[in-house]
Amino acid sequence: MTERRRHAEISGGGFAGLTAATALAQMGWSVRLHERSPELRAEGAGIVLWNNSLQVLDKIKAGPDLMSNSMTPPAYETRMNNVIQSQETLDGIRWRTLTRPHLHQTLLVAAREAGVEIISGSEVTGATADGTISFANGETAEADLIIGADGVGSAVRDSLGIPLERQRSRDGITRFLVPRRKAELQALEPDTEWDNVIDFWNLEPRVLRVLYTPANDQELYIALMAPAADAQGSRVPIDLDLWTSVFPQLAPVLADAAKIPGRYYGYQTTRLDHWTEGKVALIGDAAHAMCPALAQGAGCAMQNAWTLAAAATEAASIPEALQEWERLERPLTDLAQDRSQWYADTREMAKGNQFQGETVTTALYNPTDPHRHEVPA
Ligand SMILES: Cc1cc2nc3c(=O)[nH]c(=O)nc-3n(C[C@H](O)[C@H](O)[C@H](O)COP(=O)(O)OP(=O)(O)OC[C@H]3O[C@@H](n4cnc5c(N)ncnc54)[C@H](O)[C@@H]3O)c2cc1C
Repeated sequence: MTERRRHAEISGGGFAGLTAATALAQMGWSVRLHERSPELRAEGAGIVLWNNSLQVLDKIKAGPDLMSNSMTPPAYETRMNNVIQSQETLDGIRWRTLTRPHLHQTLLVAAREAGVEIISGSEVTGATADGTISFANGETAEADLIIGADGVGSAVRDSLGIPLERQRSRDGITRFLVPRRKAELQALEPDTEWDNVIDFWNLEPRVLRVLYTPANDQELYIALMAPAADAQGSRVPIDLDLWTSVFPQLAPVLADAAKIPGRYYGYQTTRLDHWTEGKVALIGDAAHAMCPALAQGAGCAMQNAWTLAAAATEAASIPEALQEWERLERPLTDLAQDRSQWYADTREMAKGNQFQGETVTTALYNPTDPHRHEVPA
């Protein structure tokens, strides 16, 4: 007699949902993924990934595609008023910079190859602890496991009435993908290593920051940070005169950014009372949105997606396995949230030399190591 394949329904086709779907399908599940938008595509511009998510991408066999169009910059440089505070080479830490469309496409290909059924234009309205998912078109479906990976405004989470705390921060950011223009930047500042990530801070007389991140040979990711209270600094499209007056060395790439409509995102942290209820689990921003200081929101989303898939696959009882998964995996994500919120509140990243201690604990984590929770003798 053949055993029935277990079935998962997933809400949300972002980094969290696609990673969980691929991992589950590769582990033998039948998987249906619902994405509300008519097409699956990535929002935003560039992204930094660390060892925790890179290990997951290797495990789901998406690593080689990802490497083909991404880079590891020589150093993470921090400047205050254009004076170098630190140049950290991040020796011993695996990291990669890339564009969001490239990461999303890589995950989408992996999900399709694993046999995930992807339904776009399908809006999930909620789920129940006993394993029923419901849709905006009035239909429902049953599953052994339901995953809410539907982002910070999660309908799955809200339908379960899980208590949530939301902390908004004073700063926010507008992100752009623009051409590298390395030769033009070099002409303006010949001594600068323009392959570095460069975190340009200005706190006086005005708080404005540009995080300059090369994503590959052709594309540059720039993130422009300003306090929400600064109407001119947070305006989109950006006020080119303002930004160029503070960061003249970036004039060519700021001019490109000014041609893009852009969207200003305020930083926020959301903390849930619990991530699981019966056969339903929440992952990614649906469970734990965080400020971007550590660049770990998607990293934690992918690490929790993979560990959830592994825990559910090994489980005799899904509800018990989900609770145990949260108990084991949540502390590291809580730490990343706390640390990111602290950096957002204090702006301490401006001092440089931050890639040590608890700041890199999550970055170094290997969620695919079966011995990761063993306490050393
Ligand atoms: C400025 C900024 C910079 C960042 N930089 C980094 C970085 O460098 N590194 C990093 O790791 N993280 C970074 N992050 C965090 C990262 O972008 C997020 O944590 C990550 O994208 C969350 O992925 P997700 O799949 O959980 O959610 P989302 O990307 O929000 O995906 C949710 C998906 O669900 C769909 N959906 C929503 N509602 C429904 C519904 N009802 N039914 C069906 N589908 C639905 C949405 O359309 C969407 O496709 C950054 C965030 C910000 C704001």
